[in-house]
Amino acid sequence: MRYLSRTHPGFFKNKRVLLRADFNIENPKDPNGLFRLEATIPTIKKLLRGGAKKIIILSHRGRPSSSEADLSLRPLAPLLAKRLNSEVDFALAENINKIKKIIKSSRAKIILLENLRFFAGEESNDPKFARAIASLGDIYINDAFAVSHRKNASIVAITRFLPSYVGLLLEKEMASLNRVRKVEKRPFVLIVAGAKTADKIGVLKYFAKKADYILLGGGPANTFLRAAGVPVDSSLYDPRLTSFAGKLLRNRNIILPVDSLGEKNRILDIGPATERLFSKIISKSKLILWNGPMGQFEIKRFSSGTGSIWRAILKNHKACVVVGGGETVASAKLITNNLKLLTSKRKNIFVSTGGGAMLDYLAGNKLSGIEVLNHKK
Ligand code: ADP
Ligand code: MG
Repeated sequence: MRYLSRTHPGFFKNKRVLLRADFNIENPKDPNGLFRLEATIPTIKKLLRGGAKKIIILSHRGRPSSSEADLSLRPLAPLLAKRLNSEVDFALAENINKIKKIIKSSRAKIILLENLRFFAGEESNDPKFARAIASLGDIYINDAFAVSHRKNASIVAITRFLPSYVGLLLEKEMASLNRVRKVEKRPFVLIVAGAKTADKIGVLKYFAKKADYILLGGGPANTFLRAAGVPVDSSLYDPRLTSFAGKLLRNRNIILPVDSLGEKNRILDIGPATERLFSKIISKSKLILWNGPMGQFEIKRFSSGTGSIWRAILKNHKACVVVGGGETVASAKLITNNLKLLTSKRKNIFVSTGGGAMLDYLAGNKLSGIEVLNHKK
């Protein structure tokens, strides 16, 4: 693989760089939401320092069915310009030839393209579309870890047409997750909760024998409780996975909630005794991996469990911590509205930008967008 971090200063001089970033930001007005944009800043700064002629930023936003105005990337251009203190132009056009003209005539060094998913070729990994975007630049950098499990044109097919590099963020994501996969420190605690138990099975399998403790909440906890013969009534759980859960329960490292909060026969959060039990284990761990809110934290009454995990993690200054998942990261609002400041102060905590990509990577599945970076061109 070729890494941006290993290029010599001046390497990008006079080059037009295509940077695939992950600006899939739900609400640009929410400062915590901008954490994904923030994560790409070091890469952009390095390219600016390296003398790149143009930095053309490619991203998608949301899951548009056509060009929906509220999924435009336009609001991010001024935010990026302000953050970098540099001009950023936004290129909106119905085809790549027009975009090429906009880029040529623009004085700005940085150009943000409109939501790639507004083009049909992006999600179908269309080589013609990939070739057209590739023609906008001289080299390509993937810094969009969160999308690297997707066979999209700007992630996979584009690498056929340009020399391709691993961006600083993608490299950091892989290094942090590799540290966890290798269980570099012990005790190691894996915390898995959230809604979609099926998505987390790969991670549970991979770490089943490796983790010192596996703390469960949310849908996964309910599925395991069910497997253990505890009635969970109308709570969220995955009936297809109870037999798998039953097998895993033989491992003594699985720790289930001992109490819960809820309503109408539904478990919607862990209870106070579980908060204490989980916090204690977190406090004595040296390596922590967390995916999935402990309860329906979007509702204040059921946010206490998730908040307690964040607080326990913050109290542990010695552990190496990796936190990831769309809603898990969103739940940071329970403890801060400045996630950027928090992670810059607490170097022991790494917040992954990946949801599905992180779970895939941790489980050991190959990510198409990373695999193609192995091929030399
Ligand atoms: P992530 O996006 O961090 O990977 P998931 O998508 O798996 O996490 O799950 C997040 C959702 O899980 C949250 O919206 C939360 O409301 C929900 N959740 C957590 N615990 C429960 C529960 N006991 N019952 C229903 N929903 C839950
Ligand atoms: Mg989610």
